[in-house]
Amino acid sequence: MLNLLEYLDSGKILLADGATGTMLMEAGLPPGVAPELWNVEQPDKIIALHQAYLEAGSQVVLTNTFGGSRVKLAKNNLGERVSELNRAAASLARQAVGERAFVAGDIGPTGELMQPMGLLTEEHAQQTFAEQAAALAEGGVDLIWIETMTDLSEARAAVMGARQATNLPVFCSLSFGKKARTMMGVSAAQAARELWPLGLTAIGANCGEGLEMIPEVLAQMRQAAPEARLIAKPNAGLPKLIGGQTVYDTPPQDFAVRISEFVGLGAQVVGACCGSSPEYIRAIRSII
Ligand SMILES: [Zn+2]
Repeated sequence: MLNLLEYLDSGKILLADGATGTMLMEAGLPPGVAPELWNVEQPDKIIALHQAYLEAGSQVVLTNTFGGSRVKLAKNNLGERVSELNRAAASLARQAVGERAFVAGDIGPTGELMQPMGLLTEEHAQQTFAEQAAALAEGGVDLIWIETMTDLSEARAAVMGARQATNLPVFCSLSFGKKARTMMGVSAAQAARELWPLGLTAIGANCGEGLEMIPEVLAQMRQAAPEARLIAKPNAGLPKLIGGQTVYDTPPQDFAVRISEFVGLGAQVVGACCGSSPEYIRAIRSII
């Protein structure tokens, strides 16, 4: 494949992957076990997941490192294994897709509240994200993808940490609620205004409360940062509890139609999040 930046500059759509967490639970990840542990304990299952997305048409796969920062891993007493678990994840993804897709080193929130509401300082957060990004880079990822952020200062710490630790392109997507604001009250416009100038390669939305707010998020970001490359990687609709199981209410075909709409509104990087599967990626692939 081409260099990532050349590819994006050509204006073509970049198709990412779908859910990791919900897929791993289906593959037997027990509740309460850190998914990152499977990078060393069940490597075949991680490789199989990446390959399923590759075969469905994903051009970018995200490493199984969403909770891979030291602060987050420490909650499962795995804080000392940051480097090992992130490097392992990166090399599994590379092994799975070879040069047929880009490998994105996934960075999610620490799960701690930032100051002043919580105890985590922006400096400490930046340090923990830099450590994770460095390990992902050592493992051979092509880019860093910071995702599902809701707190602006944590997102900023992650972007700064990734930029400090690597020279790789950095994507950042936040999780928005129905009114195009994150749970912490950050508007899409605010996020784009603050984060895009830090040197991002793409910015946008992932996860979140369904699909309805995506057009508003894209419009606000486009206005706040006209030159930004935009991401739309939403959940498979809204979660519903059916028979004790969480299911998402948008089937693959309908989801793909919405994604093509978002492409029409300026999203260049697309994919799916919670509740999705390779079937969703295949449906998007056939429509765009
Ligand atoms: Zn999600």
